[in-house]
Amino acid sequence: MKKYFFAACFATTVAASQLLAQGDPKATEVWSPVPKIVTPGKTAADAPSDANVLFDGTSLDKWVSTNDNTKPAEWLVKKGIMTVNKKAGNIQTKQSFTDYQLHLEWRIPKNITGEGQVRGNSGLFLASTGAGDLGYEIQILDCYNNTTYVNGQTGSVYKQAIPLANACKQTGEWQTYDIIWTAPRFNIDGSLKSAARVTVIHNGVLLQNNIELKGETTYIGAPSYKAHGASPIKLQSHGDPSEPISFRNIWVREL
Ligand code: MG
Repeated sequence: MKKYFFAACFATTVAASQLLAQGDPKATEVWSPVPKIVTPGKTAADAPSDANVLFDGTSLDKWVSTNDNTKPAEWLVKKGIMTVNKKAGNIQTKQSFTDYQLHLEWRIPKNITGEGQVRGNSGLFLASTGAGDLGYEIQILDCYNNTTYVNGQTGSVYKQAIPLANACKQTGEWQTYDIIWTAPRFNIDGSLKSAARVTVIHNGVLLQNNIELKGETTYIGAPSYKAHGASPIKLQSHGDPSEPISFRNIWVREL
């Protein structure tokens, strides 16, 4: 039996190299592994069939308070959207993630006040590594006709990477983030094995092109890494006095 198997393999290899020698395009066709079937949503914003829907507009069941992750997330859910509750602080997913594709929609209220960083400030932490603002933040801010430091504007990796464009819609409109996150990897001794990478698309416009992160976000000083594993996704309740922002339609596909 084995003899026939090897003979068959040899014949196949010979056949393939003969095809290659003849310049046959079939010689370079690959037929497996076959990619899994994923049924897309009606629009690019809708969750595909294999997505984990983190917020469908009805409840915060998949979220907890960051300050105390045994407590529910106490943001306000109404008419299909969730709105930051500044008194409740940051919220994060119950589940932890490593590498993923994420879709999220956010809206700065039309009546927003303030300027610079004090104008609809929130943030998406791609991996929450602890309470408060620990982790890696993609900035959310009203940057439509609002000037601030460029490594802190919408779509920046906060204080680390300037976005390639300002693609903000008018204040009051819904906006989309589509993000691809590759988590950092660490050696057993805690040293960095490979840096985190992120791609950010805002309203269909590329802002971060698979850039390498220098470490976790810090408000003061240079970013650096400290070892961690799979982590929750976190949304920021910023302490500024401007009106709270809203979110809807959040889904993730683990990679
Ligand atoms: Mg922020």
